[in-house]
Amino acid sequence: MQKGLTQILFAIMLFALPALVSAEPAVWDSYAKRLELLRYVEYWQEPAGAVPLDSVRQLPEREWQSNGKDSVSLGYGDEVYWFRVNVRNPGAATAPLFLEIGYPVLDHIEVYLLEDGELVKRQLLGDKQPFYQRPIYHRNFLVPLSLSRDDELSIYLRVDTTSSMQVPLTLWDQDAFYVAEQARSLFEGIYYGIVLVMILYNLFVYMAVGERSFLHYVGYISAMPLFLASLHGVAFQYLWPEATWWNDQAITVFLNLVVLFGGTFSLHFLNVTSANHPFLNRLTVGIVVMAGVMATAGLLVPYRLLILPTILLAFLGCTTMLVLSIVRWLKKDPAARYYALAWVFMLFGGIVLALSKFTVLPRNLLTENATQVGSAMGVILLSMALADRLNREKKRAFEAQQRLLLEERKARMAQEKSLRIQQEANTLLEQRVQERTRDLESLNDQLRELSATDALTGLKNRGHFDRTFSSAVVKAYRFSQPLSLLLLDIDHFKKFNDTHGHLVGDDCLQMVANCIRDYVTRPQDLAARYGGEEFVVLLPDTPKEGALRVAEKIRSRIEETGFRVSDEVLHLTVSIGLCAVCPSQADATKDIFSWADGALYEAKGRGRNQVVVCEPPSVQGAEPVMT
Ligand code: GH3
Ligand code: MG
Ligand code: MG
Repeated sequence: MQKGLTQILFAIMLFALPALVSAEPAVWDSYAKRLELLRYVEYWQEPAGAVPLDSVRQLPEREWQSNGKDSVSLGYGDEVYWFRVNVRNPGAATAPLFLEIGYPVLDHIEVYLLEDGELVKRQLLGDKQPFYQRPIYHRNFLVPLSLSRDDELSIYLRVDTTSSMQVPLTLWDQDAFYVAEQARSLFEGIYYGIVLVMILYNLFVYMAVGERSFLHYVGYISAMPLFLASLHGVAFQYLWPEATWWNDQAITVFLNLVVLFGGTFSLHFLNVTSANHPFLNRLTVGIVVMAGVMATAGLLVPYRLLILPTILLAFLGCTTMLVLSIVRWLKKDPAARYYALAWVFMLFGGIVLALSKFTVLPRNLLTENATQVGSAMGVILLSMALADRLNREKKRAFEAQQRLLLEERKARMAQEKSLRIQQEANTLLEQRVQERTRDLESLNDQLRELSATDALTGLKNRGHFDRTFSSAVVKAYRFSQPLSLLLLDIDHFKKFNDTHGHLVGDDCLQMVANCIRDYVTRPQDLAARYGGEEFVVLLPDTPKEGALRVAEKIRSRIEETGFRVSDEVLHLTVSIGLCAVCPSQADATKDIFSWADGALYEAKGRGRNQVVVCEPPSVQGAEPVMT
């Protein structure tokens, strides 16, 4: 960039120097094959109103201005210029020659060839004539001529154009021209080939990927070669050879489209939004809109009114894009690297072209081709930048997906863990509940046991006996089994209490209970305290004889057991009423109990301390028999 600037400054300095070489005839050297005529050219600005050739030839010498350098650029304007140059051939007769006017957008050119003061040829050229009226079909203007030995040929040109007044004049040996033309065609072909491939490639990428940047890019690289083809006369030759009006307009339209698509592409590609770069975004959008308006205007408004604003806008656009790329580069946007480089290339071409248009730079092979070289390099670089960005985005999407997968796996593992913890907690809870239930059940059992137990003696209480007795009767009735019931009452216990006190009485009750318990041993047998000093013994599945034996054992054991109070040993006796039956009905409890009670009463009556058996009556309504 630094080097480019130095070159430009140097060129400006050279250009500012006054013309040192005065005009003299150009000498054709037959070995040279080619002669640049501009150094020998003189020009004259025609005042308003067309001046005929004869009058021009009569002009005094001082009216003519010597050019004296290898370029002539008189800028944009409505002025008409005359150019003249003399060519001498000191050597042998020449092969056929071409006079080439190497700027294809000049509107009207009148070429006059005079040999020894005689007009030998008048040729009308310019892009305001249909292409096929040219003597030679070439994008530049070519006039065939010949130079005899010692001839002096005067060439007069009248140029009237709305484009910039550049009139590069070259005299060619025709064979040499065609040889050089091959290289130039090849050069052009390579450029348009590259661009065409890029257009198709990026169009296909867009269709495959759907990424908008590619479409803007395709717009940009389509407008670019069309602009250059218009400028270089290629489009006029091959695309619209009859469209003389459009040929000039095309330059403004396509240059504006270059700016338009360049702008939209940059905004998309560099991701310059109103959020991250409000000013640059607005500036670029403004340029894009202006370019759009001017491209449309190019279809209606004459070229000479549009070309200057268009070039200025293109210049502003190029600078803005470069600033954008640098700003994005500084912001560490990786896509901006290629992009900035591409713009440096294209800008270089653009600047060189613009400077040559404004006559700051001389018009030569470098300035003419800088645009194409820069543009081709830029096109390739931008395509690489797009591919790079696509890759990067794909990679980012892939990484994001991986991250997502990882997160998902983590979440799933966490979920599984919490599920496991919950299951463990549930199991633990279940265990606890079971433990508690078991505790409660045993507590319940204890309670039930307690509620069924007489607190003083530890035998079952009356409630428990009542329940067991009725179910035992039902069972005996169902299975036709014998069932025995013993009712025990301590003899004269009231007197005992009165004599020794209630506490001693209670101890005696416990002793009696223990004696009873000793003889009630079968699992289904039941001894209970019925109330006060009365006890019951239920003996299921026990006939009279067995029950009598148990009753006698209890009675005699109590009689024998001595009970020590202070120094005294006391004795107690019990009377026992016994009833043994095979129940004839399921609810015989009342009968059985009253029969046993009757037997007890009988035992008391017969003198106490004995067992009385009640034989239940064999006939309904008869008296029971006591034995
Ligand atoms: P009998 O030979 O006719 O049965 O004479 P008895 O004195 O035993 O007469 P009864 O059966 O009417 O007397 C019951 C007495 O038993 C009344 C009370 O003094 C005594 N007694 C009842 N329950 C208890 C008790 O829980 N503890 C004590 N110490 N004495 C009781
Ligand atoms: Mg009693
Ligand atoms: Mg008693």
